[in-house]
Amino acid sequence: MIKESEKFLNEIEKERLYLTNLKKDFKDLESFLEIYELLKSNLDKLQEMKESMDESGYTAPFRSLNRYGSRVSEDVDFEELGEISRHNQIFRNKASAKKNSFDRVKYAISAHRIALGNLEEYAKIRCKDCKKSYRVSSFLDNGKVCKCGSSNFEFKINHSGVHRLEIIPYLPLSGNYMVLMSGLSSWGRESFKRVLNVLKQQRRGVVKTVTPIVKYKENGRTITKRVPLDSEFADSYEDELRRRFGKGVRIERLEFHRTKPTIINDKHTCTNLALAYV
Ligand SMILES: [Zn+2]
Repeated sequence: MIKESEKFLNEIEKERLYLTNLKKDFKDLESFLEIYELLKSNLDKLQEMKESMDESGYTAPFRSLNRYGSRVSEDVDFEELGEISRHNQIFRNKASAKKNSFDRVKYAISAHRIALGNLEEYAKIRCKDCKKSYRVSSFLDNGKVCKCGSSNFEFKINHSGVHRLEIIPYLPLSGNYMVLMSGLSSWGRESFKRVLNVLKQQRRGVVKTVTPIVKYKENGRTITKRVPLDSEFADSYEDELRRRFGKGVRIERLEFHRTKPTIINDKHTCTNLALAYV
C-alpha cells in the first residue's frame, strides 16, 4: 500500500508542471474542466487510499509495537530477546514509513480540496440557450446538460467569487509539504512562519462556519449533500460527519463562505495554505 500511494503521489507531482499558468489556460470550458476533473479524480483516489489506510491501522501504526514490546516476560532467554528486539526494529521502521505515507496522503487530500474549492468559486458555467449559470460541481452532477435540455455552455469568470487561482500551483498537491518546506530559503521560511501565524490568529479570532459537501451511500444510492455545520465543528468536521453519516462518508470539498474568506480548520490546511502563499 505504501508503494502504491507513493507512486501515485509522485505522478501527481509530475502533473504539477501543467498547472503553471491557470488563468491564461482557462480560456474555455474544456480547458477548465480538464484541470478540474483531473484534480477531482485525484482526490477520489486519494480518499480511497486514506480509507484503506484507515482500515489497516495507519492511524496509529506504533500501537501494535507497544503491544509487542511489553510482551517480554521473564522466561525468554537471551537469544529470543535479541530476536524480539530485531523484530521490534523492523516493526518500528515499518511503522514510521506508514506514518509518513499516511501524512503525505492527508496533506495531499487537503491541498486538493483547497484547489477544488478555488476552482469552484472561479467558474460560472452558463447555458447559452436559457442563460442559467451553474457551479462546476452541479454542472457535472447534472451530466453537463442544462435543465432546459441544452448542452450548449460557455465559460465565465465568477467575479463575485473568492478565488485565488494563483496559489494552486504552489499547493503541495502531492503531499510533499516536507520537501517544499525544506526548499524554502531562510527568507522564505521566515515568511512561511509569519503566514502560518496569521492563519492561526484568524482561526482564533474569527467565528467561522464550514460547509462540507459530502457523498455517502444510502440504500445503495450515492447521495451528495451540503452540510452546513456550526462553528463548534469547525475543527472537528470530519468526526462530526462520520458520526452523522457513518464511516463511508466522503468529503468532496469545503465551501468557502464569502463573509469569512478564510477557513482554516486543521493543521494540514494551515500548512498547505501557508506554503502556497509564501
Ligand atoms: Zn439552459
